[in-house]
Amino acid sequence: MYEQLKGPSGIKTGHAAVDKIEEHKLCATPQNYEVWLNYIAGWTPDLAREVDDIISTEGQLTDSQLEKIHSKFFAATQLSSQVMETGTKIAKEIAEAVEALRSASTTTEQYSVTLDNAAKSLSNDNISGDSLNRIVSVLSTSTKEMSDINENLNQQLVSSTEEIESLRVSLQQARAEALTDGLTGVANRKQFDEVLGRRINESLESGSDLCLVICDIDFFKKFNDTWGHQTGDQVIRFVANSLSQKAQNDSLVTRYGGEEFAIIMPRTNLDTAHEFSESVRTTIERKKLIRRSTGEPLGQVTVSFGIAQYSAGEEHTVLIERADSCLYYSKQAGRNRITLESDPGIA
Ligand code: GH3
Ligand code: MG
Ligand code: MG
Repeated sequence: MYEQLKGPSGIKTGHAAVDKIEEHKLCATPQNYEVWLNYIAGWTPDLAREVDDIISTEGQLTDSQLEKIHSKFFAATQLSSQVMETGTKIAKEIAEAVEALRSASTTTEQYSVTLDNAAKSLSNDNISGDSLNRIVSVLSTSTKEMSDINENLNQQLVSSTEEIESLRVSLQQARAEALTDGLTGVANRKQFDEVLGRRINESLESGSDLCLVICDIDFFKKFNDTWGHQTGDQVIRFVANSLSQKAQNDSLVTRYGGEEFAIIMPRTNLDTAHEFSESVRTTIERKKLIRRSTGEPLGQVTVSFGIAQYSAGEEHTVLIERADSCLYYSKQAGRNRITLESDPGIA
């Protein structure tokens, strides 16, 4: 992608990004530059649309709005550099600990030679008082050295263990972030793929039921056009929260696409998945949403659902396709409804 920034046209794009920073009176941070560069080069249409939306509703962009856009669109790159950095730190800690152990083991070998020599000398029956004093002094000095080295090694290992533990925690946090959707806080598509595979295996092993619910906000394009992208985001968050609140502990709510969610429901049959979906559908339909920035009522938002149950041996893609066709049926049949694969007329 950065290939396109080579040569005179690349310089022109760079200048245009700086002009935008000036025009909107923004700080000249690398993040702001990255967003504008992306906007001008047209690499990420969703980013450009979001920027345009804010400009058209509010006239100008602020640093904090740009920061949000930056973390939304570039979080993954930040994360991978964070992971790389943590990995390098762990490798360095381990190398230092290994080096300390290696040098301690050399010293232990030397100490053991000293002890052997002392034992040999002591086994001599004619040993003089002077020699005895010398041997005792050598033994005492090297024992003291050994004890100091052990003490240092101990301290170094304790501090390495603490450091590695704190790095392990930050890697775990980075991994959790990598599996979470930034806008809604529910699981992202990557986690969906991982967990669905696992749940299918469990279902195959134990023979338990497994359902997949897919839902999609109705007429959302129109909603965005009417109220702007920011308010659209507010609705996506609301739908995600409604799903999370109603979901059982071992169900996984995921943001499957832009305004589409998939819920993996282990040990659940079609009837229970239907009950869950119905309760979310009515909660959303009844909610009187208000535009946060102005207090205006946003009218009714509705969601359509499709539900399929895993059939032993089928590929996970087939299960998704079946849930998707049920969702499609709900849309065709007028939206704000639920279609089960067992419904009449569904193949
Ligand atoms: P349908 O009832 O058939 O689902 O109609 P729809 O308008 O919802 O159609 P579709 O699902 O194709 O449109 C999805 C729209 O969702 C397109 C896009 O503008 C919007 N969208 C996707 N991701 C986001 C997002 O992160 N934030 C906002 N605000 N809008 C998004
Ligand atoms: Mg939609
Ligand atoms: Mg959609």
